Amino acid sequence: MEDVQKPEERNSGNFGGRRGTGRVIFLDRDGTVNEETHYLHRPEEVRLLPGAAEGIKRWNDSGFQVVVISNQAGIGRGYYTEKDFWAVNERLNQLLGEKGAHIDGFYFCPHHPKAGIGEYRRACRCRKPGIGMFEDAEKTFAVDKAHSYMIGDKRIDTQAGHNFGLRSVLVATGYGQEEAEQAQKEENQKKDYDFYAASLEEAADWILREEYKWNL
Ligand SMILES: [Mg+2]
Ligand SMILES: [Zn+2]
Repeated sequence: MEDVQKPEERNSGNFGGRRGTGRVIFLDRDGTVNEETHYLHRPEEVRLLPGAAEGIKRWNDSGFQVVVISNQAGIGRGYYTEKDFWAVNERLNQLLGEKGAHIDGFYFCPHHPKAGIGEYRRACRCRKPGIGMFEDAEKTFAVDKAHSYMIGDKRIDTQAGHNFGLRSVLVATGYGQEEAEQAQKEENQKKDYDFYAASLEEAADWILREEYKWNL
């Protein structure tokens, strides 16, 4: 007998014990959730962007897992440590928690192919637009690519999402506006991302509309 999934099992947690229902919002962190400050590593400097908590809460409440995928070459360059990265994440979840929102997981790439020091200096599989962090997340979180998205303020974020087979959203915060202008010059918007949103809240609106269409 063939091992065929019944339709009702396709999207109902038949994911070998991994977390969630398969719907995942992958987020860049700096410039997407919190204000972009150069090589942010002090918890007391974390500031949420407008609409970030509201958007994330909407995904939390609609059954999405929310997972950060972050290039952190500042670690590889020796500007700050992995411990600093986690302290910022903790502060971020504290600020989100005050607004009823949370991030379920954090993944980072500490490497840089040229500027990394010691073991951090290498061409790795995880640095966006590579997909290594998505593959690592997939070991813990169930990922149904048709119902999962990548969102960031740079085209390396949205391209990474596409490389992993997801739809992606460019946000106008952080570097987003310059990135959108550049994409427009190169006439690459369609190729680089699927939607351009003013904030994570607007991104959430778009994604929930897309998902609503899927579920009609
Ligand atoms: Mg960013
Ligand atoms: Zn890496």
